[in-house]
Amino acid sequence: MTESPTDDAATPGTTTASPPMIVMKDVQKHFGSLHVLRDISLEVPAGQVVVVLGPSGSGKSTLCRTINRLEPIDSGEIHIAGSLLPEEGKDLARLRADVGMVFQSFNLFAHKTILDNVTLAPTKVRKKSKADATKRALELLDRVGIASQKDKYPAQLSGGQQQRVAIARSLAMEPKIMLFDEPTSALDPEMVNEVLDVMVSLAKEGMTMLVVTHEMGFARKAADRVIFMADGAIVEDTDPESFFSSPKSERARDFLGKIL
Ligand code: ADP
Ligand code: MG
Repeated sequence: MTESPTDDAATPGTTTASPPMIVMKDVQKHFGSLHVLRDISLEVPAGQVVVVLGPSGSGKSTLCRTINRLEPIDSGEIHIAGSLLPEEGKDLARLRADVGMVFQSFNLFAHKTILDNVTLAPTKVRKKSKADATKRALELLDRVGIASQKDKYPAQLSGGQQQRVAIARSLAMEPKIMLFDEPTSALDPEMVNEVLDVMVSLAKEGMTMLVVTHEMGFARKAADRVIFMADGAIVEDTDPESFFSSPKSERARDFLGKIL
């Protein structure tokens, strides 16, 4: 792994003066008659790693998608690093670029090389020079252990390798927040850890992260906080130790009983 000497400013514990990275206030969201996010209020300080748990259909993906406005909300407010997330326009594009997102399906561009996948958005959206974008992409690919694959195409890589490229591609936009929506759910079991290891190292470096996952090992190792959702609402919001050893709600006890 390469150390980058320039971007170590966000050391955990030194960020107390900055505004919370994510603020959600009384957020409501419906799909037709389905009330999919119920009065969600949430503050995530810089550097915090939040694991979001909950049964299928509880609104976890929708929560992630509203944070970078892939889904509009009905009412309430979302602030990213102190700025209100607007409905549309230039400011939305700028704020959205601050929020990286990694999905279950890797969504790499099939007809572009690994290197081009990582340099595309920084050159097109961030207007970086090709040389700068390439230099940064190579650092990031090295960091996720894929540098030697840079000239290959996505289909030539394993699922775990593709997901690590997807993480490098998100990081190339220099996001302030990383959202992960079940990033290892589509992987063969032997590839899960190579992706989780990259996420754990990001967490240790102080990245603000919101991670939807069923990987309890990751939650125990890397999470500062666990949010448990059911039926579109946040039912528990606590530290991992308390959540796993003494969940307060019947819903959480039931959920843990099924997955542990
Ligand atoms: P989770 O990620 O926790 O499984 P989701 O956020 O994907 O839950 O979905 C929450 C609920 O919203 C589910 O009942 C799902 O079927 C519904 N839903 C999600 N996306 C849409 C959509 N685009 N249109 C209609 N219903 C949706
Ligand atoms: Mg989901």
